[in-house]
Amino acid sequence: MSNLLTERQALANSNTNRLYTRLELEHRILSDSGNRALVLVNLSTIHFLTLTYGFSYGQHVLHQVIITLQSLCNEQIIATRTFEGHLVFYVQGKNHTDILKTFCETLYSHLHRLLSKEGVGWGIGVMEFREHQEPDIDKAFRNVLIASESALDLESRCCFFTKKMQRQATKEEAIVNDLSMIVNEQKSENIRLQYQPIMDLKTNTICELEVLCRIESKTLGILQPIEFIHLAEKTKYIVPLGIMTFQKAFQFFQTLKKQGLDHIRLSINVSVIQLIDTDFLSTLITLLEEYAVDPSLITLEITESCIIANYQAINSLFSDIQAQGIQLALDDFGTGYSSLAHERTLHLNTLKIDKVFIADLLTIPEEKTITRDIIAMGHRLGHTIIAEGVEKEEQREYLFRHGCDKIQGYLISKPLYEDAIVRFLKARI
Ligand code: C2E
Ligand code: CA
Ligand code: CA
Repeated sequence: MSNLLTERQALANSNTNRLYTRLELEHRILSDSGNRALVLVNLSTIHFLTLTYGFSYGQHVLHQVIITLQSLCNEQIIATRTFEGHLVFYVQGKNHTDILKTFCETLYSHLHRLLSKEGVGWGIGVMEFREHQEPDIDKAFRNVLIASESALDLESRCCFFTKKMQRQATKEEAIVNDLSMIVNEQKSENIRLQYQPIMDLKTNTICELEVLCRIESKTLGILQPIEFIHLAEKTKYIVPLGIMTFQKAFQFFQTLKKQGLDHIRLSINVSVIQLIDTDFLSTLITLLEEYAVDPSLITLEITESCIIANYQAINSLFSDIQAQGIQLALDDFGTGYSSLAHERTLHLNTLKIDKVFIADLLTIPEEKTITRDIIAMGHRLGHTIIAEGVEKEEQREYLFRHGCDKIQGYLISKPLYEDAIVRFLKARI
C-alpha cells in the first residue's frame, strides 16, 4: 500500500510530468498509429533491500528511483504504474527508433547510478508496436513484463520482446494448461515416470532407482522436467503432481515385487514447494500405508539451494521424515550455496555429488580434482555418497578408488520406462 503511495506521489507531485492512468495510456496507444513502444522498468528486486535493511530504507530507494525516472517524461514519453515496483513508459513520436534507443540508454545509466551501489538489479523490458498494428493491450503489458523479467538476468539489463519469447510464452501457456488438466482431471496416465539405476560400487549391483518425471502433453508430446517443473512450481501444481508421482512410483513397487525385485529402493525428487506444504508428511505417510510400501525403501531427494532460505523449518521437517524411516538425500551437491556448517547439522543420509564434479574428472589432472575431497568430507559427516552423471569408465574407476559408495549415470544406464527398467534389472540378477 505505502509502496504504491510512494510511487504515485512521486509521479503525481511533479508539475511537468504526471502519472497517467492505465486507461489514459491505453487510449493513447490505440489512437496513435506510428511505430511506438512500451518500456517497463522492473524494480521488483528492491524488495531485497526492504528485507535486508527494513521497510523505510526500501521505500527511500524506490522513491529516489521514481523521482529520477519521472523527470525523463516529456510529450513523447509518458508513464504509468502497473503494479508495485513496475513503471511502464510509452514512447512514441517521429524518429521513434532513435528516441527509444536514447531513452533506454538514459534509463540504464540512471538505474546503474542509483541501484548498483545498493547491490540490487533491475530489468528494462521493451515491447514495440509496428506501424498500423492493432495492438492487444493486455497481451502487450504481459509481453513487456516477460521481457523485463528476462532482462533481470542480463548484463545489459535490457531485453526486447521477440518472436522467440512469444513462442516460449505460448508454449508455457500450453504446458500450464496441460498441468491443470492432469491435476484437475487426475489424468495420471499423462505422467510418465522413468527410472534410472544407481549402482553400489562395492558390490557392483543395482540397489536403487531414481524416479524421473516426464509428462505427456496434449499438443507438445513428451515434456522433459526442464520444460515443466519450474512452471509446476510457479503455479503450485507441483503439490498435486508430486502426490500423483508418489502414487505411480508406489504402484511400481508392486511390479518390482512380482518380479522378485523387492530389495530395490526408490529415490524420488521433491521440490521445496512440496515440502513447505503443511500436509506434505501426513499425505506421504497415508500413501505409504495405502500402497503398503516399507518407508525404509524410500529416499527423498531435495536440491541444496532450496534448503538455505527455509533452513530451520526444513531441517525440523527432515528430522520428522527420518523418524518415519524414510531417507533423505541432498541433490546436486556442490552447486548451491553450500555451507559446511549447514551440511553438518542437516538431517541427511546421502549426498549426491553434482555432475559437474564428475565431468571435471575427464578434464582436470587427478591431483587438482576436489571430487575426492567432497567424498571424504561427506563420509566424515556420516553420509552415503552417490556420484551423478557418470558416463565413462575412468570416472567410475576414480570414484571407486576414492571410496565413493554409489554411482548413477549413462555408464550404467540412461533413465528407462517401467518395462525397460524391469528387463534391465532382471538381466542383471
Ligand atoms: P536431477 O535430480 O539432478 O536428475 C538427474 C538428471 O541427470 C536427469 O535429468 C537425468 O536424466 C540426467 N542424467 C542421468 N545420467 C546422466 C549422465 O550420465 N550424464 C548427463 N549429462 N545427465 C545424466 P532429467 O530427467 O531431465 O531431470 C532433470 C531434473 O528435473 C532432475 O535433476 C530433477 O531435479 C528434476 N525432476 C525430475 N523429476 C522430478 C520430479 O518428479 N519432481 C521434482 N520436483 N523434480 C523432478
Ligand atoms: Ca535428483
Ligand atoms: Ca542431481
